Amino acid sequence: MIDDPRIETQAVHAGEQRPGPEGSVVYPIYQSTVYAVDSGTRYHDLKYLRLNSTPSQNYLHGKLAALEGAEAAVATSSGMAAITSTLHTLLTEGDHLLVADALYGGTHDFLVERAASLGWTYTFIDAQRPETWEAALTPRTRAIYVETIANPVMRVARMPEVVAFAREHGLVSVVDNTFASPVNYRPVPAGFDIVVHSATKYLNGHSDLTAGAIAGSAEIIERVRKTLNLYGGSLDAHTGFLLARGLKTLALRVAAQNANALALAEFLTAHPKIGAVNYAGLPSHVDHDHAKGFLSGFGGMLSLRLTGGVDAAEALLAGLTLPFVAPSLGGVESLITFPARTSHSNMSPEAREAVGIYDDLIRLSCGIEAAEDLIADFDSALRKA
Ligand code: PLP
Repeated sequence: MIDDPRIETQAVHAGEQRPGPEGSVVYPIYQSTVYAVDSGTRYHDLKYLRLNSTPSQNYLHGKLAALEGAEAAVATSSGMAAITSTLHTLLTEGDHLLVADALYGGTHDFLVERAASLGWTYTFIDAQRPETWEAALTPRTRAIYVETIANPVMRVARMPEVVAFAREHGLVSVVDNTFASPVNYRPVPAGFDIVVHSATKYLNGHSDLTAGAIAGSAEIIERVRKTLNLYGGSLDAHTGFLLARGLKTLALRVAAQNANALALAEFLTAHPKIGAVNYAGLPSHVDHDHAKGFLSGFGGMLSLRLTGGVDAAEALLAGLTLPFVAPSLGGVESLITFPARTSHSNMSPEAREAVGIYDDLIRLSCGIEAAEDLIADFDSALRKA
């Protein structure tokens, strides 16, 4: 490939074999569970689907690594498998984790429900206030975990400060980059040790599969792969094929979603029935100034509140004709939801409010529809809200 290709080019060509097997342009699905090996091959080097070492998996891993600008990557059966495999690799009994308080609900629930029985401790930190992190360190702190753009309040973590803090204190830095995608931010070249994704979202982009991804140095990914092999969260070849297909249009999709989210955020901010819009691309957003230093786009996700509270919010959702009322994100179709009832429903109301997840907060994942049509749909639904 040419030197220093842009992400649009990488999405199509990176990790592709040329020529592919039998001259194929599209890498085929190798369906075999197991492959013949030389006697004496080590367990984790056997070619077996659960061991994440078959041709279709290796192809996908190469593509994911190239898109993340990382040495290596491994795909998992879900975003949660990526997150839990990573944490199980980094932490053993007695270890401590610093973790951002504005967090995907599933990650939050995993820590709250499982960390104690695993012998891990953790402290929630405010990812916007680096001056408070040092006080939370313990002699057993091993890692710091943040989300680039936090679900669902769209706060942007202090990413350069996280990298510097982790280096200063000998911690492994981990980031869930699901909302930003590598199109808007590439954590590994920026100094993070590990990036995790729910590939169910932007990486695949079509709301038709569940997968996860982890990228980092070859050494760290080899360790994570061994954990994954033991827990059994590998991705099957068919799903991996669909994910690789989705990745080829990642840059185009995310560019359209960035533009749609910004256009809608600007429209909604100016609307008299809207009380608040959370989108870091707006100069009025609390994180805009620092986020523009490292994000190349602000993503396709925004959240909002109406001045009329829950009843008005319900009426808005009922009046919209384009977005599906559904809790996922990152697909080509717009999706809209109440996080307090879906992704963050297991948190206590007090814990939710502390991080800005009010009962009437609406989260919108912009699809790739025309911005004018999305705005017209909101305009019409807001008249009835
Ligand atoms: N991380 C983030 C930011 C998410 O939004 C999600 C799912 O919504 C996950 C991780 C978990 O991903 P999955 O549903 O693929 O397990």
